[in-house]
Amino acid sequence: MYHPKALKAEEFISHDEVLETLSYADANKHNTQLIDAILEKARLRKGLDHREAAVLLDCDIEEKNREIYALAEQIKKDFYGNRIVMFAPLYLSNYCINGCVYCPYHLKNKRIARKKLTQDEIRREVIALQDMGHKRLALEAGEDPVNNPIEYILESIKTIYSIKHKNGAIRRVNVNIAATTVENYRKLRDAGIGTYILFQETYHKESYEKLHPTGPKHDYAYHTEAMDRAMQGGIDDVGLGVLFGLELYRYEFAALLMHGEHLEAVHGVGPHTISVPRIRRADDIDPGVFDNGIDDDTFAKIVACIRIAVPYTGMIVSTRESKACRERVLHLGVSQLSGGSRTSVGGYVEPEPEDEKSEQFDVSDKRTLDEVVRWLMDMGYIPSFCTACYREGRTGDRFMSLCKSGQIQNCCHPNALMTLKEYLMDYASPGTRQIGEALVEVEIPNIPRDKVKDLVRRNLTNIENGQRDFRL
Ligand code: SF4
Ligand code: SF4
Repeated sequence: MYHPKALKAEEFISHDEVLETLSYADANKHNTQLIDAILEKARLRKGLDHREAAVLLDCDIEEKNREIYALAEQIKKDFYGNRIVMFAPLYLSNYCINGCVYCPYHLKNKRIARKKLTQDEIRREVIALQDMGHKRLALEAGEDPVNNPIEYILESIKTIYSIKHKNGAIRRVNVNIAATTVENYRKLRDAGIGTYILFQETYHKESYEKLHPTGPKHDYAYHTEAMDRAMQGGIDDVGLGVLFGLELYRYEFAALLMHGEHLEAVHGVGPHTISVPRIRRADDIDPGVFDNGIDDDTFAKIVACIRIAVPYTGMIVSTRESKACRERVLHLGVSQLSGGSRTSVGGYVEPEPEDEKSEQFDVSDKRTLDEVVRWLMDMGYIPSFCTACYREGRTGDRFMSLCKSGQIQNCCHPNALMTLKEYLMDYASPGTRQIGEALVEVEIPNIPRDKVKDLVRRNLTNIENGQRDFRL
């Protein structure tokens, strides 16, 4: 039985319910009347349940698919405008005691260089990131209670927040570490993290156990129930994700949305973000050995259907994806992008020698942050370095209610312009700066309230005069 409110993983991610959802979607994928009714509901912009969304994902009527893509694009515009929030991952340590068969950090990989940053090395990495213009990081570390205990993570967060190099500052640290205890989540909350991110990898229990043959991550229930413990520990914003390619994408899609429904039912807040990584080549990992890889068309459809199903949940695409693929999914629903990323431990300060590689996966989009920012602006997007919400206490249900009512836009758009201006002043190349300055000028009249417009104009002048960190 499917119980969104249950606290046991196998009840809120009920295998039977996923299978029934897949049969229902398959049986109705040509049912125009039902698809029209689902689309009509989706146009209310309040989202869809997993069954409805699964029907849209399976739908193979060309005309209806065009409507699905158009609606995803419209919802993206309505909720996120033309803004894209920028971030970068920071790998602290690749020591790991788990046996995940798709990740080169697995314990048995003796080829990969094992590295763990000292606090001094973290300082240097953070300065390198600040010098690129980043304000928002996602911390990554393998699971290893000896090498990467929670104290190490907490100390690293403190170090990161303390570094102020020139005009640089990391203002939001999101954390992607292994499932842990309520007590440790409380410590992370107290350290001032933004979002706690944990990818489920796959929701299919049997596959999950095979893909995680050894180590603490083998425990499906402990991993799947992690977000509930995080929320019990006071973390308001959590980020979900699956690694597409491990299991059938239709299964993952339905279960991912069920996980979101569960969080909403139990904690009153759905996921803050959803990430959609696809498996990539890495040190001793060949993506070809996994049978469930998805092509770019399917990937785009998944992004569009997630956008329609959970309009108020941010969607993240990393540099695992190529420039062309990122371009394709941006307008279908993606709201956050990484740029200039290094997926190795210590990779921002200097490139690694060939015989000492420590990266988690091959980066597909290898452009610099400046190139990514310029590319976004050339397409009419506003790259945003905004981190205002959690710093203003807009988290959890407070954030979600502003999001659902659409009011958050009144903060996002001005904040995007002010943080972009900071980037242009401090870090952009001359060509990027020129394009950006013109974009900011074009965008100011789009701020609806005159009072806010005046405030933004004043703050833009203050930024030109050397002041920083304005936010609404
Ligand atoms: S996916 Fe995470 S837990 Fe698994 S081996 Fe890689 S770093 Fe370790
Ligand atoms: S105002 Fe809040 S929701 Fe909007 S971009 Fe900034 S941090 Fe994100």
